[in-house]
Amino acid sequence: MNPPPHFNFDNSFARSLEGFFKPCQAEPAVDPKLLQFNYALAEELGLDPVALDSEAGLAIFSGNTVPEGSKPIAQAYAGHQFGGFSPQLGDGRALLLGEVIDTQNRRRDIQLKGSGRTPFSRGGDGLAAIGPVLREYLIGEGMYALGIPTTRALAAVATGKHVYREFALPGAVLTRIAASHIRVGTFQYAGARGDIVKVRELADYAIQRHFPETAEAENPYLAFFAAVADVQASLVARWMNIGFIHGVMNTDNMTISGETIDYGPCAFMDRYAASTVFSSIDQNGRYAYANQPEILTWNLARLAETLIPHVDTNKERAIELLTETIECIQPLYESYWLMGMRSKLGLTTEDILDQELITDLLKLMEVGHADFTLVFRRLSQVLRGDSDAVRNLFKEPDAFDGWAERWQKRLEQEKVENAAQAMDRVNPIYIPRNHKVEEALAAAVNQDMTPFSKLLEVVSHPFDEVKGNEAYAEPAPATNRPYRTFCGT
Ligand code: AMP
Ligand code: MG
Repeated sequence: MNPPPHFNFDNSFARSLEGFFKPCQAEPAVDPKLLQFNYALAEELGLDPVALDSEAGLAIFSGNTVPEGSKPIAQAYAGHQFGGFSPQLGDGRALLLGEVIDTQNRRRDIQLKGSGRTPFSRGGDGLAAIGPVLREYLIGEGMYALGIPTTRALAAVATGKHVYREFALPGAVLTRIAASHIRVGTFQYAGARGDIVKVRELADYAIQRHFPETAEAENPYLAFFAAVADVQASLVARWMNIGFIHGVMNTDNMTISGETIDYGPCAFMDRYAASTVFSSIDQNGRYAYANQPEILTWNLARLAETLIPHVDTNKERAIELLTETIECIQPLYESYWLMGMRSKLGLTTEDILDQELITDLLKLMEVGHADFTLVFRRLSQVLRGDSDAVRNLFKEPDAFDGWAERWQKRLEQEKVENAAQAMDRVNPIYIPRNHKVEEALAAAVNQDMTPFSKLLEVVSHPFDEVKGNEAYAEPAPATNRPYRTFCGT
């Protein structure tokens, strides 16, 4: 008999932050089956993939067995959801099994999502269906491969239980890995209770865990806030650079670590339109593509509010200092965005006219109904002597020619060799295309994992063109129905 899978748990959150969680057990899964297991990630976490890819592993990932050293907890948090504040949300369908130190000496959370009711479930059943679980798996791994900070999926397990939504759906549990699950909403949880001591404990913990250098700053809590603002601004810029729409940028879905979390109604934009919204619950377009940078600042201002008493004993002064930092967020975001966009155009130097060059391309794409991902990818073809591949993506290709001339002139200022190659390393050819994702999930619900495995493989290598995978690069066939995503709860 093999020894049971071993996790070297070191549960600092449970040890340090009494009041921010409740101990809880998963509900049993009647007939668990492994849907997907992330071998490479298991290795990165310092776990034994062979030992985990087994009945014993399945028992852990389904919530049926608590691995040694784990003390499962549901974490508390609050949050602004679509602008309205809920003082108590929390893990309604997730359990933190514990933390491990990975092979690169990073502390990582291991969490089950969809493992049943918790003290924070409110009216919910605590469960998740196969579709949304595999969606989170796939898009998270796709984001990781694109180089975007993200939580990741270690395993997806079908529970054999039904989950009742509009219809009865097969249930599943996702094992999610994160730098931590501390959110802006975690700070708001203590902040809303007026518990200054708890906010400070949480801030001290988050500083040690994510931004230890800020502890040495003249004003550690202000420096901490600036550090969170920096990682989140960088993150949202990356989303914008890649055409990603998160869909629910509530404060409980914004991590302190700067990782993308909670792939619910998110989606990648196909045809470029700044006002794109996919989520059926986002009726006013609060979280539309073009609004994401502004929401970033709005959410960070909610974090700042909780830190006021810690930044300075003089409230006016604290607000002044935090406001100064908040005012830097948009310029900071824009500089990250511009840096990303420059590299998409093969530019390595800075020119005052770059911003205009980029926004003009986006405008042309919008008017020309051009596919976001393909335009950027095929720009490199222009440098290889084939302009048609990209021009034909625009409804009126002639409009593109003038822009292309400006861009090539700009490139002449550069001394880089092989700009085309560099561009292909930042402009993906394969993203999780909405219609492909839906196709894979529909098959998985019908117990055919083949399309899912293939799509996962393709989006795990987003920059390397592979013969035979053309269909994965193509936009969805034209329909007159806009793509809609659902919250997945
Ligand atoms: P989300 O929109 O998925 O980020 O979730 C918002 C809040 O609702 C969080 O507190 C979740 O834990 C909770 N929640 C979502 N779905 C469920 C469910 N099926 N059962 C219980 N709580 C849920
Ligand atoms: Mg959430």
